[in-house]
Amino acid sequence: MADTATAATKSSPATGNQPHYSFFHGVERNFDKAAQFTRFEKGILEQIKACNSVYQVKFPVRIGEKVEVIEAYRVQHSHHKLPCKGGIRYSMDVNQDEVMALASLMTYKCALVNVPFGGAKGGIRINPKNYSAYELEKITRRYTSELVKKNFIGAGIDVPAPDYGTGAREMSWIADTYASLHPGDVNALGCVTGKPVSQGGVRGRTEATGLGVFFGIRELCNVKEEMDRLGLSTGIEGKKVIVQGLGNVGYHAAKFFYNAGALIVGIAEYEGGVYNEKGIDLEKLVEHRKSSGSIHGFAGNQDITNSAAVLEMPCDILIPAALENVVNAGNAARIQAKIIGEGANGPLTPEADEILNAKGVRIVPDMFLNAGGVTVSYFEWLKNLSHVRFGRMDKRFIENVNSQILTSVEGLTGKKVTDRERQFILHGPDEVDLVYSGLEDTMIGSFHEIRESMMNLPGSDMRTAAFVVAINKVGVAYEELGIFP
Ligand code: NAD
Repeated sequence: MADTATAATKSSPATGNQPHYSFFHGVERNFDKAAQFTRFEKGILEQIKACNSVYQVKFPVRIGEKVEVIEAYRVQHSHHKLPCKGGIRYSMDVNQDEVMALASLMTYKCALVNVPFGGAKGGIRINPKNYSAYELEKITRRYTSELVKKNFIGAGIDVPAPDYGTGAREMSWIADTYASLHPGDVNALGCVTGKPVSQGGVRGRTEATGLGVFFGIRELCNVKEEMDRLGLSTGIEGKKVIVQGLGNVGYHAAKFFYNAGALIVGIAEYEGGVYNEKGIDLEKLVEHRKSSGSIHGFAGNQDITNSAAVLEMPCDILIPAALENVVNAGNAARIQAKIIGEGANGPLTPEADEILNAKGVRIVPDMFLNAGGVTVSYFEWLKNLSHVRFGRMDKRFIENVNSQILTSVEGLTGKKVTDRERQFILHGPDEVDLVYSGLEDTMIGSFHEIRESMMNLPGSDMRTAAFVVAINKVGVAYEELGIFP
């Protein structure tokens, strides 16, 4: 992360310091910019913007010989639809301002991709690398029981998911703690998403956000007018991509770009970065990092000591997929990418947005681009409430129908398809096929809805357009919900 960005995001509510840069105000600024293009009265807009419930809790956990006081949050930004939904982050940068900003982005994100939830977010202010798995489990279970005590979690109330520093393991601990405090609740597993498949998770959730990032950028790259404007050819193949953060979002996004024929020319991680204009072999780099403990020293690639400098190197597409504010007033002018796909939440400050928009860079905003996670979380929640795996009822039926159609066509034409073609035509959908298909459809549909809104607002950008679409949906929901007298 750039030094300036680190300084900007470092804030410590524990010591009473205010953040130098308010992420939440940044989101509000973007909201206000878009709100002028909507028809809603001031009060409704204020209500949409406000965080409905903010819960801060401190609890003790015995770590080794000592008792540590852990600071944690859960913010429910909007109750216009229930349950609320949003990830849980483990990071030393967690503070109230950050969680509020991330919760509000979740409201707009869910509205954009037509996921019927209000936005929420949670965070625990710890560096997970400093704790053993046993200690993390204790912290996670205690946090969950604090949420239960305040009625801040439940399939119809508020449903967390993984985010920075957490994954399927933590979600499994949350589900188990919740279920043990709600004996007999048949929907208990719907209290959290991103669980392992064996614990009620859905196939395809792990890679969902990265795959959504890929689908969203692929859709942009397929629009000829957009590529002509940027001086690029259509399609993903051959595009030079830099990814920041090789975690859940960044790694999977990079993998899908790589498999589609893009060149991954740069990777930035917290210990440094690598660059290779001919393209990096992603899986070999990941293996190398696992075995050596560092991204550096992988033969054939240029090592970059200052990780943030990788963001400024030549490429067509830059995917920041680590933390917020990494592109800011300090480095925005030096960014060479023509497309920025926000894998992370809030990686660009409003100042960076202005500088890059003025340069003609196409910024694909976080609230759309990383919505793959919540989209597939929605599918997981539906699976938990329906208690049946997707595809279980219809897979065999579809295969039988396809087989009969194929037999008839072969009989009528007197020609036979190859074994490979037969396999493809007959195949009934598995759970993962349906999840990928639902995700692809969501990302394509939302992309065009946002782009259409952008085309109707001359001189605007994709973030403003996305906010307009989201505000319109949430505003209508509030109007139709009615406001208490
Ligand atoms: P993660 O913890 O799996 O991965 C983050 C990666 O970033 C790690 O590999 C970490 O080492 C790296 N990193 C940390 N500091 C860095 C730095 N200064 N420079 C470069 N790399 C650095 O987290 P994630 O789940 O992939 O989340 C990343 C971002 O995506 C966050 O902003 C999160 O809110 C957002 N997001 C995640 C999901 C999801 O489903 N996980 C969904 C939507 C949005």
